[in-house]
Amino acid sequence: MEISVDPLVCEANGVCAGLAPDVFELDDEDRLHILRPTPPADALDRVRHAVRSCPKTALTLRE
Ligand code: SF4
Repeated sequence: MEISVDPLVCEANGVCAGLAPDVFELDDEDRLHILRPTPPADALDRVRHAVRSCPKTALTLRE
């Protein structure tokens, strides 16, 4: 599984970072960083939930 974000679509509202803070992080300039582009098995449910919850559908998951 690999996660990517479209920075032109992300509005930095922090939904994904709230749901999976070990994988997604917003910096001081409201840029989203994917800390673990290939997340471990125990994070997959949280990551899928975060991707589905993005109100801008800015996140892509390749499985
Ligand atoms: S939930 Fe979507 S719009 Fe919000 S910070 Fe994450 S990627 Fe960006």
